[in-house]
Amino acid sequence: MTEAATKPVTSISPTPRHLVQAMKEYHPPLGNRDMLRLDFNENTFACSPRVREVLGSISAGALTRYPEREPVEVIVAARLCLAAQQVALTNGVDEAIHVLFEAFLEAGDELLLPVPTYTMYEVYASATDARVVEVQAADDLQFPFERLLAAITPQTKIIAIANPNSPSGSVATHAQLVEIARRAPHAVVLVDEAYFHFYGETVIDLIGELPNLVVARTFSKAYGLAGLRLGLLAGPVELMRWVRRVLSPYSVNSLALACLPPALDDAAYLEWYVNEVLAARAEFEAAVDKVHLRRWPSRANFILVDIGSLHAEFVRFMRKAGVLVRDRSSDPGCNGRVRITIGTREQMQLAVEALKQAVVALNLGAQAK
Ligand code: PMP
Repeated sequence: MTEAATKPVTSISPTPRHLVQAMKEYHPPLGNRDMLRLDFNENTFACSPRVREVLGSISAGALTRYPEREPVEVIVAARLCLAAQQVALTNGVDEAIHVLFEAFLEAGDELLLPVPTYTMYEVYASATDARVVEVQAADDLQFPFERLLAAITPQTKIIAIANPNSPSGSVATHAQLVEIARRAPHAVVLVDEAYFHFYGETVIDLIGELPNLVVARTFSKAYGLAGLRLGLLAGPVELMRWVRRVLSPYSVNSLALACLPPALDDAAYLEWYVNEVLAARAEFEAAVDKVHLRRWPSRANFILVDIGSLHAEFVRFMRKAGVLVRDRSSDPGCNGRVRITIGTREQMQLAVEALKQAVVALNLGAQAK
């Protein structure tokens, strides 16, 4: 190679958009997770055995074709009592958020976000020309309904509400969500129901009735298919046509598409897993109360616990004990708080043991008392 070829030519190298340069780096800690995974709110056990069977039966020939999303959208829509044009399958809810924001947010617009909430709303919004307007929850981390209503302006273009919310586990009521949609008819109201199965209440029944309501669901949580990347967006046809313009026709791969119908068909498996988590959540809450740590009421498959100033040491201690948990200290209003996913009752016994040991080793209860 000549000297000229190896010399850096930074002055003329391509530069990304200024907004992309200003974006924060987001690298979730996905490495070295071969232990009890209570850090990403995934299903901690397995997907339905019916999904496993279908995966095993996919032929090499089938993989040579581009995936066809529409027939599976017809199946999913029918399950949700919606028309196929009201539903788009996506590469996880993350893609749904990304595409929705790309389709609707432009310069001068505001994305209204009750915080703390799911990180990716802000990440995707920061690559658009819109401004993020945050509404901070109070110390109880309950949904800041009144203040969110008061923050709606003519510039509000999207209001993103995770329901149940993460990392708090708190919820907005059906009536509150309807009121928000009515008070912001010029904005898309995204209700992200990623944790719906652990909560049981939904606004998906209002799709079409409320012209600005869009609902997201994921197959990464209760269904146990996070690795396949499968989510959906449901909304009125008038809004979904713009989403479809931006959405890649190929982003949901054929393995994921093949696995969706058997996952939906195995209602008994889903029910078993959800009931297991709900029972484990009640047991784990009791264990947290017993060691006198503050926690927030949760309607999802995780609990936020106040560890205090030793949050980083706690996460390290738990990892050494074989249990991964997620420090949420950098979330707005969450300093010292750690989110713990709920798995099966058997798995959570290990978590309870590790928690008890951490409380003694780090003298945590004393801090809280
Ligand atoms: N929304 C919320 C509220 C979440 O917590 C998550 C996962 N952490 C997602 C969406 C992303 O889901 P998916 O895996 O379908 O992209």
